[in-house]
Amino acid sequence: MPVRKIVTYGHPVLEKVAEPVAEIDDEILDLAHDMVLTMHAAPGIGLAAPQVNASRRVITVDLSVGEDPDELIILVNPEFIEAEGEEVNEEGCLSVPGIHENVKRPARVRLRGLDLKGKERVIEATGQLARVFCHEIDHINGRLFIEKLSPLKKTLVKKKLKKELAAG
Ligand SMILES: [Zn+2]
Repeated sequence: MPVRKIVTYGHPVLEKVAEPVAEIDDEILDLAHDMVLTMHAAPGIGLAAPQVNASRRVITVDLSVGEDPDELIILVNPEFIEAEGEEVNEEGCLSVPGIHENVKRPARVRLRGLDLKGKERVIEATGQLARVFCHEIDHINGRLFIEKLSPLKKTLVKKKLKKELAAG
């Protein structure tokens, strides 16, 4: 399967805690492969499986958006080992079209997960890369970045989103 459809705000899969992957079988390999294509086509720098309506703990990250194969990271069952510091920067989401808001995230994270061969990888990230990991791991825990905004901001953003999504 090639590029998959990205689901948007309001779709129930985005609010579900995604299922851990017990075995990296063909279904997971297909999913991960399609996610990379979908992320690059969007274009985006990160994608989580729930965004293509697959409630599994798989994320893809590529700050180079396909320019540099070395920057592509695919992680199965990712989890944080450590997070420290604080950094505020603008964030957007392929599932939350038209919204870009400042969000506070850890400045540095360490996380682990499996690659597609089932081998454990430990990754340290700072700045933008740390932010993308936080954003994508939030997705597999059923959380969108707009939930981190102040109540007033959230209300404004949700109003704007309704209009945006109604306009198609
Ligand atoms: Zn997102």
